[in-house]
Amino acid sequence: MQNITHNRGTQRRGANKSYRMTTEFVREVNKYVPVCETTCAYCGDTKRINWSQGDQPTLITRRWRDLGWDFDPYNSKCVVCPKHKKKTASPSKEEPRMQTTVTPITKPVEKLTRPLTSVEKSKIRSLLDLHFDDEKGAYIDNYSDQRIGKELDIPWASVTQIREAAYGPIREDERFMKLRNDLTNAENVLAELKRRLDDLEKSVKGA
Ligand SMILES: [Zn+2]
Repeated sequence: MQNITHNRGTQRRGANKSYRMTTEFVREVNKYVPVCETTCAYCGDTKRINWSQGDQPTLITRRWRDLGWDFDPYNSKCVVCPKHKKKTASPSKEEPRMQTTVTPITKPVEKLTRPLTSVEKSKIRSLLDLHFDDEKGAYIDNYSDQRIGKELDIPWASVTQIREAAYGPIREDERFMKLRNDLTNAENVLAELKRRLDDLEKSVKGA
């Protein structure tokens, strides 16, 4: 049913496609087989699927969507792998309040995890050692997964993963957590305002 709306894509047949038809050598059968490959607009990962049905955008779209991808055959920016596709994808593309041209794809970044290096993991652990009370299951010193993520420039969901695995869940009242996060956000806003004030002062003095 839903697929009907996506057929509009075929009206733009001339546009650049978001997928590529190519071939791949398969050792088991000792020959090249046709594949269709596409690239996640978020993480840049390229994935290939066996595809012997030719360049048929509608069928190809259906297949990628069946595999859990966000897929538009004519807009590579709308191709997102299952790992990175927004869970709350809304059908309306225009959000009246968003006047900037910032792509919404960058928005869910901090909610996502990525593989961490062992150095990053150990940095997270040392901050957790300092700021997480695993007996109480609570952060101290106004720390949070988000704050550690910000300080180390690591997606905070990755911090959550490590904390959950090594130090356990947060057991304190969620309201504390929420307020701490709000506080961290407010601190970031203040720091940004201060930086802008400093910049302005410098530029006025320098003029
Ligand atoms: Zn991705």
